[in-house]
Amino acid sequence: MTLPRRLHVSFALRLAALLLGLFALLQLASITAIGLGLDAQARRTLPERLAAGERVFKSLLEQRAQVLTDAAAALAADAALRAAALSDDRATLASLLERHGARIGATEAAWLGTDFGLRARTGEAMQQAAIGPAAAALAVSAGSTGSASGLVLVGGRPHQLALVPVKAPGLLGWVALGLPIDDRLGAELHTLTSLDLTLLARDSANDPWRGTHSTLGDAAAREIAAQPWNGAATPMASLDVAGEELGLRPRWLATLGAADRESGPAMLALLSLSIDAAAGMPRVLPWLLLGIGMLGAGMFASAALHTARRVTAPLRELADAAERLGTGDATAPPLAAAARSDEIGEAARSFERMRASVVATQQQTLRLAYRDTLTGLPNRAQFDAAVHEAIAASAGTGSTLAVLVLDLDRFRSINNRLGHAVGDRLLQAAGERLARQVMREGDMVARRAGDQFAVLLRESTPELAHSVAQRIALAFEQPLALDEHRLAVPVGVGIACWPEHADSADTLVHRAERAMLAAKRGRSGPLVYEPAMDDGSAQSLALLDELREALARGELRLHLQPKLSLATGGVAGAEALLRWQHPRRGLLPPEEFIPFAEQTGLVRELTLWVFEACARAWRELQAEDVDMVLSLNLSARDLLDAELPARLEKRLLEQRVPAEAFCLEITEGAFLDDPQRALATLKRLSLMGFKLSIDDFGAGLSSYAWLKQLPVDELKIDTAFVRNMDRDPVDAKLVRSMIELAHNLGFGVVAEGVENARTWELLRELNCEQAQGFHMGRPMPVEEFLAWSARWVDKRRLLGTAGSAGLLH
Ligand code: C2E
Ligand code: CA
Ligand code: CA
Repeated sequence: MTLPRRLHVSFALRLAALLLGLFALLQLASITAIGLGLDAQARRTLPERLAAGERVFKSLLEQRAQVLTDAAAALAADAALRAAALSDDRATLASLLERHGARIGATEAAWLGTDFGLRARTGEAMQQAAIGPAAAALAVSAGSTGSASGLVLVGGRPHQLALVPVKAPGLLGWVALGLPIDDRLGAELHTLTSLDLTLLARDSANDPWRGTHSTLGDAAAREIAAQPWNGAATPMASLDVAGEELGLRPRWLATLGAADRESGPAMLALLSLSIDAAAGMPRVLPWLLLGIGMLGAGMFASAALHTARRVTAPLRELADAAERLGTGDATAPPLAAAARSDEIGEAARSFERMRASVVATQQQTLRLAYRDTLTGLPNRAQFDAAVHEAIAASAGTGSTLAVLVLDLDRFRSINNRLGHAVGDRLLQAAGERLARQVMREGDMVARRAGDQFAVLLRESTPELAHSVAQRIALAFEQPLALDEHRLAVPVGVGIACWPEHADSADTLVHRAERAMLAAKRGRSGPLVYEPAMDDGSAQSLALLDELREALARGELRLHLQPKLSLATGGVAGAEALLRWQHPRRGLLPPEEFIPFAEQTGLVRELTLWVFEACARAWRELQAEDVDMVLSLNLSARDLLDAELPARLEKRLLEQRVPAEAFCLEITEGAFLDDPQRALATLKRLSLMGFKLSIDDFGAGLSSYAWLKQLPVDELKIDTAFVRNMDRDPVDAKLVRSMIELAHNLGFGVVAEGVENARTWELLRELNCEQAQGFHMGRPMPVEEFLAWSARWVDKRRLLGTAGSAGLLH
């Protein structure tokens, strides 16, 4: 089952990947949101931080100015300076300036006259042009208190400048100390505020800005200086510097000596902070997020796999079951997933419903294909397959088996006479009865076709098969009770055994059928197959030809058997019975050829032959002055022949004999196939003047209803009852009842099969009209019969009595 496995893996993986992807997306979104939030937060708070930084920057400048002013004041208070000033000793002044300035790092120091003219100085940077106006401006702000400080560009570089008057007590001049603004200021500011400081300066509005100092480095300072900072007074400007976005706060620095900031020398301080850095996440945050992410991913992965398994396991189960169902195997165990309450459970339940209906359909199909719907027994297909299978199995084990084929006698006529509903019930009852006779496990009873049943006996010898067949035949001798009907339905049974009689399943069944046909033909009990039965049809054809020739060649013989009046002992009539003088086999009784002639329809020609022979015999008897009625037998085929009355009429005329001279004997069986047609024929024959007789009365008769409708003159009680009535009181009682019944219906009665004097007496006492039997006379050729009847008449006259026929023999 590779397909479901692949489904499992790919589906589980895809589900896991999907869930993980979604999770990663979520993580990304939250990180982005955090980033954006931090950025926004940074942008919001940055101006404030810059403003605070600016305040720190201012106070740093002020501190430095104070230190500078204090140093200048200390210098101004120096007596040596005053003395040098009074004496205008410029060399001393210069050395004093240098010494004091160096103490505080002021590289520039100058001594100015009261007119702010430069008298002495240290360093080269202090030029009259730069210091003069600045000092003058400072002096104004110093006012009377004396000292003042401010910013000034000295030599193009920003400096803090302090100016202190020297008085003695009148004003002698001014001490000016210049402290360059260097990298330390920026470094200090950075330490305190984390902000960067960039100072820009220009000498006039026409000059470009240049960076003088920057904690960001020279390159950054140049980039910043390249911006047009004119009029800049925004709380914060943002600028990309060296690939980094900076938030910058520009502040003009009041520049001493500049007439206005727009045109003269100017200084700009820019406090800055990297926005990226300000918005940067806390150092732990990425690790924290990574940790959460990995934990989440792990949880997601296991949840995804678990879910996938919960989904794919039942799907695989479903797929397995579907695949098995697809190959026709509906035996898979019930799906566990059907107990679930979710969609998978619903799918599983749908599948179970589908499987149930598939199974039902399958079983129905199998039933239809392998079961006979009427009897519920296996049908021909299943039976033949079982025989095949049994033979295949036996071939391995060396065991033997047998097949019985049964055919119900008279089924077709019962079906026609009593209707198909009764016919169906009869088949069901026959099937049940048959099944009861076959009790071994593994044996099979089947309905192969119409009224043909079959039995498969596994592990069976011919002897066992024969005894089962006999049991079956015996069971079917009992009539079947169906509502008001009691139907005697004997069966013909044929037996064939494997391996004795066939080398394949088909021939085995076929040969059992042959044996069955032979059994039916011979009206015998169960027959085991013999090779002679096989060419039955060839034999039949040959026999048919032979019989035709027999007719043409005059091999048929008419025998007459006397019918005597029980009351007078006189010859009342005779029954015409046919014989065949076969050239090789000798004189054949009618059983040997009449059933066959009935099957082929040739019996109609035989009947006409018998009739003509009878007509001749009757005229011969008349010539001898013997007046009697001759009885002859009609078969079912004759009664179904609508032309029969016309044919007989023709012969009556030809032979110049009256219809009243003949009695036509019919059996119940002759009446069964098509009662309406038979009745119509009989009525015509009766109207023509023929007498009618019911032959074999009491044997197999199931209903008297039809008796009423028949234009009958006589009933002939079957030999089977009469023969033993002298010994068997039941038979005697039955004969008595039949006689009474016949009399009540207004019929005369003939008892057939009278074999002794005692029976003759009994019948006479029962008021039976006529008797026929070996006791009085066997069937004999016509000439013999003439002689016999002459003898009979003589004997009777001699004895002068009709009382005891027995004495006459
Ligand atoms: P069936 O019509 O019942 O004829 C009476 C049979 O009983 C005759 O046998 C006869 O020999 C026999 N029988 C007479 N008396 C006795 C007796 O005392 N004891 C015993 N055991 N048997 C007795 P058969 O001649 O062998 O004829 C047999 C059957 O063949 C007849 O039975 C009849 O059904 C048929 N059959 C004979 N001839 C013809 C015919 O020309 N046409 C037709 N359609 N059937 C015929
Ligand atoms: Ca008869
Ligand atoms: Ca009879």
